[in-house]
Amino acid sequence: MNVIATTRTASAAQSIEHFDVLIVGAGISGVGSAYHLTTQLPGTSFVVLESQETFGGTWVTHRYPGIRSDSDLYTFGYRFKPWTSAPIATAAEIRAYMGEVIAENGLEKHIRYRHRISSASWSSKTNLWTIEAVRTDTGQALTFTANFLWMCQGYYRHSEGYTPEWKGMETFEGRIVHPQRWPDDLDLSGNRVVVIGSGATAATLIPAIAEKCGHVTMLQRSPTYFRTGRNAIELAETLRQLQISEEWIHEIVRRKILFDQDTFTRRSFTEPEVVKDELLGGIRAVLGPDYDIETHFTPSYRPWRQRIAFVPDADLFQAIKSGKASVVTDEIDRFTKAGILLKSGKTLDADIIITATGFNLNMLGDIAFEIDGMPLDFAETVTYRGMMFTGVPNMAWVFGYFRASWTLRTDLVADFVCRLLAHMKNKGAKKVVPALRPQESNMPLQSAI
Ligand SMILES: Cc1cc2nc3c(=O)[nH]c(=O)nc-3n(C[C@H](O)[C@H](O)[C@H](O)COP(=O)(O)OP(=O)(O)OC[C@H]3O[C@@H](n4cnc5c(N)ncnc54)[C@H](O)[C@@H]3O)c2cc1C
Repeated sequence: MNVIATTRTASAAQSIEHFDVLIVGAGISGVGSAYHLTTQLPGTSFVVLESQETFGGTWVTHRYPGIRSDSDLYTFGYRFKPWTSAPIATAAEIRAYMGEVIAENGLEKHIRYRHRISSASWSSKTNLWTIEAVRTDTGQALTFTANFLWMCQGYYRHSEGYTPEWKGMETFEGRIVHPQRWPDDLDLSGNRVVVIGSGATAATLIPAIAEKCGHVTMLQRSPTYFRTGRNAIELAETLRQLQISEEWIHEIVRRKILFDQDTFTRRSFTEPEVVKDELLGGIRAVLGPDYDIETHFTPSYRPWRQRIAFVPDADLFQAIKSGKASVVTDEIDRFTKAGILLKSGKTLDADIIITATGFNLNMLGDIAFEIDGMPLDFAETVTYRGMMFTGVPNMAWVFGYFRASWTLRTDLVADFVCRLLAHMKNKGAKKVVPALRPQESNMPLQSAI
């Protein structure tokens, strides 16, 4: 039940809204969780608070050219809504898909945009969370209470990306851009561009801008593995030709992808050299035998020690082959007026430097947590199945997979939370809190991620 209570403080009347469940964030996790709550536990009152102006999370924050998934959307999409297009999707396609989920399930009325949560305090007296939020458009402070807090805030700070401090950055006379804050007015035409980094962002961005730039250089400290292939799933195409329903295609293709990914992951442990040869073979097939794959695309570690980015239709390698893009494997000594001086002594002249150097890790949305007036340090807790934390009542946390699509876990965590809430309702329980068994109190601990 949603109740609006009014409390009077010395200065002003402040309304406190109460919900059974409060979901933090309207990215793919928050929207999926809202769907599961409405379908698995109808009648539960809930609100989704989102600091941005719209839903999408990652897929609205990142606006750089070419932004796309590197997972297939059969598994990055929800299990309950068929994906019907090419497996690797643009941010716009992902947002459109999420928009349909919101519209088809009446979720819009539950989502409040431009609400940034700053703190969450648990009270054992009331068995409630009190959540303080600020409206980013008006500056208004708002207070909510909730029986259960569902953290769907992603894993990095949305307001700014991570840029290392290099010597001489301030002397560079061109422009430095982080892909997470892509400026609307950035004109790349004819410019010499250096992209620092060779992760999924660089691999996506470079083919998208190569044609426009004078030249684009991917500058990496060390190589990364890439997988190449057609942006299509043959089995899905065959099933469509056979006029199988999209619901069936979605389920069958998901199973096939998960089966194939599992096989690939196992093989990268049992026969790493064979897998390595296959991955490098995909690149060699485009760049030819004379390209220095050893230096630029052969990592020192075995496959799957780090996330492997999928490069659809080998577009990154096509850009390199065309001569519009190139790779330099070296280390940055310092920035100069004209570009970058490398440790090898070589220089890279640039008009624009793009720092595809990653994110500011931020596991819990920059929210200050308290339990009964005491600041909560999550580093002192132990996770229960990566979903809840010891000593933290009535809270679940969504964190996706490393070697598989994030959303697979969003669906699974939602099943767990809905079962848990139903169980609590049946039992009349007001509080659930994970605790270690006595025999586990001295066990060695590892970090959660
Ligand atoms: C460019 C890019 C591509 C990626 N591609 C893939 C991929 O192909 N496959 C894959 O599995 N993963 C991919 N990832 C990882 C990706 O972030 C996740 O898979 C997924 O999008 C995360 O969804 P989420 O809803 O959990 O979090 P996010 O997308 O991060 O959304 C969290 C939302 O919570 C809001 N929020 C956070 N804190 C607060 C607060 N205090 N108050 C209010 N609102 C708050 C944020 O504004 C945001 O909208 C990619 C990541 C990036 C950056």
